[in-house]
Amino acid sequence: MPVETQESEPTTLFSEQQFILQQRLQEPLSRDAEVIKRGRRKLTCMDEGTPDGEVRIAGAGITDPKGFDHAVEMMREAGVDMVTSHDDCGACMEAAKQKFGDGATKEQADELGKQWAKDMAAALDVPYEHIENLDRGEEHEAVCVYINMEEGEGLRFDLDKTHFPKGFTVTDLPNDPSLTAEQAAFAARLALERGAYKDQFSEDAKFSVVLVGGKEGEHRHAVIEALRHALKDLGPRVQIESMRIE
Ligand SMILES: [Zn+2]
Repeated sequence: MPVETQESEPTTLFSEQQFILQQRLQEPLSRDAEVIKRGRRKLTCMDEGTPDGEVRIAGAGITDPKGFDHAVEMMREAGVDMVTSHDDCGACMEAAKQKFGDGATKEQADELGKQWAKDMAAALDVPYEHIENLDRGEEHEAVCVYINMEEGEGLRFDLDKTHFPKGFTVTDLPNDPSLTAEQAAFAARLALERGAYKDQFSEDAKFSVVLVGGKEGEHRHAVIEALRHALKDLGPRVQIESMRIE
């Protein structure tokens, strides 16, 4: 067990979150831990304000460079049984800017995100739900992004149940390491450039990209390589970490 010393005693919410994350990274997660929920396969955004989902991708896949049909196929393979959208989605704003230009409004982004998720639910023939109240303030409060590396598992980190810092969550969709890496880089950019802690991240208090669970092997190496490439231009305020599940 890590020993708490006087100097490492947290003084702000940000340093407290950083401190807890470093502690959490030192021990493997138990496979039966209360923090892990398996079973359902609800698709939600990676946003830390929409934690109630087992398959997680930015904007329910709205920024997929290969388009709608590709995103639907991925979600079918992942066994998605419900699709959600949410207000104030960063990925939907990106998509809106591509469609309407830099002046795209919040209303246009919300509408685009809802339509995307509704169309996906219809294509998959599963229920659709819109999430209005986010479990965060106006700005992103995530200090990390968790990447669910447990292949084929509908898995949720119930962060409220145990003492885990707020983080984006991305599901690694096994056939596309570059997509996983792009999601993580997008999350890091939101936190470092627009988040509540954007001025507090530093070389000593980095934004962490945390690979959770998963097996050693070629795919994991490919994801890490893709992450290194995607995170390169974000500089030394980002690090790649691993959390084992045993
Ligand atoms: Zn979102």
